[in-house]
Amino acid sequence: MKSIKLDDLGPTKQLQIYDPESGLRALVVVDNIALGPAIGGVRISPTVSLLEVARLARTMTMKSAISGLDHGGGKAGIIADPKQKNIEQLVRAFARMMRGIEEYVPAPDMGSDETMMVWIKEEIGRVLGLPEELGGLPLDKLGATGYGIAECAEVACKQLAKPLKGARVAIQGFGNVGRAAARFLEEKGAVIVAVSDSSGTLADKEGFKVTELIQLKQKNGSLNGSPQGELLPGDAIFAIDCDILVPAATPDVIHPDNFEQIKAGLILQGANIPVTLEAEKALASKGILVVPDFIANAGGLIMAAMEYRRKSAEESFTAIGQKIQENTARILHKAHKEKLLPRAAAEQLAVERVKAAMAMRDLSHPWK
Ligand code: NAD
Repeated sequence: MKSIKLDDLGPTKQLQIYDPESGLRALVVVDNIALGPAIGGVRISPTVSLLEVARLARTMTMKSAISGLDHGGGKAGIIADPKQKNIEQLVRAFARMMRGIEEYVPAPDMGSDETMMVWIKEEIGRVLGLPEELGGLPLDKLGATGYGIAECAEVACKQLAKPLKGARVAIQGFGNVGRAAARFLEEKGAVIVAVSDSSGTLADKEGFKVTELIQLKQKNGSLNGSPQGELLPGDAIFAIDCDILVPAATPDVIHPDNFEQIKAGLILQGANIPVTLEAEKALASKGILVVPDFIANAGGLIMAAMEYRRKSAEESFTAIGQKIQENTARILHKAHKEKLLPRAAAEQLAVERVKAAMAMRDLSHPWK
């Protein structure tokens, strides 16, 4: 088993939690808090591991730093099925365990939602991603991350001298991120030719209407039973003939054994760490432009940071558009000029900012 790598940035805390009373098993990694309190989603999944949480926490450090936010990076995982009966008891037990970890602010992630954020708020008062009715900015309902992906697409297409209008898009994962990305990309004139979820890949080269796909998923709970298109196996999404591929589901889905199938010229990482580093290098050598997760999917974090500052949804969308457009242009320019992978260009800029903050701070006194 691969172990967590310790380096100049962190992680500063790794916790494995077990509560015999509720049966809660949870993992928390606070990666770096030099820029401010660490915001990080709570992933609920039976298979979440400490290594996965640590890699995601590092992604959050990078995402905050490159987005110019005054936050560090962290992440949590609850080892459970989000649909299991006692999930409220587990989430509340988890929240109470976080009471003393004041430098970490929980937020929604895969498997957790706004309702669970209310439970955490009730237990410890410290949470982001609350429903609007309770003064929050429900980033999934508003589609913050998907909005940012569409903004990123606009700049990346310019770099490739290809129009976004008419571009054929395939999206892996039709959840919060995938649905919103489809909606906002369609608004910009792109054509959604395939989407996938755990039930398979639904494809039609003529393109789908996103509202109809959303209705199908709401009605059937999956992509099964569509009157349009062909239902293929889940992995078929990677081989779809398209211009833009958005992996928006789980980690490491594009790897050295399947990257050859990809026909898209542009990959926007909607999920966190969806492409292994090896595959990212191999894709670059094939001339495929890959915009890394912490640039392309920063919309949700930017909205969470705006909620922390009590800003409105409108102000958040403006900030997401500006920051993601600027960042995409900046890293693609640096990568091109210095012959780097876009990820390496972005990491250099993010690490520089974190290290400058670390040089000025005593991290044994975390900021709240
Ligand atoms: P979600 O649970 O709403 O949706 C995930 C979707 O992926 C579901 O439709 C599920 O059926 C599908 N899926 C799962 N396994 C799959 C597989 N093997 N093949 C195809 N589809 C599969 O989650 P989400 O909030 O949309 O998050 C998706 C990813 O984006 C995660 O990696 C998350 O960390 C990342 N992310 C989310 C946000 C956000 O704002 N929600 C922000 C940044 C990054």
